[in-house]
Amino acid sequence: MIIEHSSNLIAKIEPIRAFQDNYIWAISNKQLLVVVDPGEAKPVFDFIKAKQVTLCAIMITHKHHDHIGGVKELLHTFPDIQIFAPKNSNLDFPFTAVKDGDSFLIERINLHYSVLETPGHTLDHIVYLDEKNLFCGDTLFACGCGRLFEGTYEQMYSSLKKLKRLHPATKVFCAHEYTLNNIKFAMTVCKNNKLIHERYEACKDLSLTLPSSIEDELKTNPFFLAQDVDQFKEYRLKKDAF
Ligand SMILES: [Zn+2]
Repeated sequence: MIIEHSSNLIAKIEPIRAFQDNYIWAISNKQLLVVVDPGEAKPVFDFIKAKQVTLCAIMITHKHHDHIGGVKELLHTFPDIQIFAPKNSNLDFPFTAVKDGDSFLIERINLHYSVLETPGHTLDHIVYLDEKNLFCGDTLFACGCGRLFEGTYEQMYSSLKKLKRLHPATKVFCAHEYTLNNIKFAMTVCKNNKLIHERYEACKDLSLTLPSSIEDELKTNPFFLAQDVDQFKEYRLKKDAF
């Protein structure tokens, strides 16, 4: 059970675009800012300047460069920030190691998060959640899931099962804008699912399709809809070739 932390509810969550299709999620409360997975520093500095905010913490979901590449530059300018990252990530900057079941308070901004381990895309992958929001990096995407670089199909399937159990209203903040391509794929494996077609219509002209919700994913994400690990594997292999 996650205890609702009132200051999380008034925090504002905005996307900072990076690279081709990455999102660095910016969580701000008054003049303070937390970012999730800053793969690049420049767009974060631009955001800080435009919004007149100060960085106080970074949360990292996994070790891939497009999620951590901006950390050292940000740390250089904001040496007092807290950095949270998976306990089994081998990173070349200092961080507070967190693991499954941990929860922590980012004191300066008074925000509270819990951690779930979701190995599959990588073995170190974790997600951060509060009562209303999930920051899931490359584990879960809108209508899709991350590629398996390190984990087994069983690991990824059980990681997604953990996320399926979250409250359906939980907002899903993934790290990439892959939605339209994912929906096109979903239509090929779940042909009779009308809700996927509706989702396509709803998303086809949007440049920002996030956040999604656990409820949307339960209805239309083929990797959530897979009956068992064999079907999950079949979908994942088809998606890799799509
Ligand atoms: Zn990744």
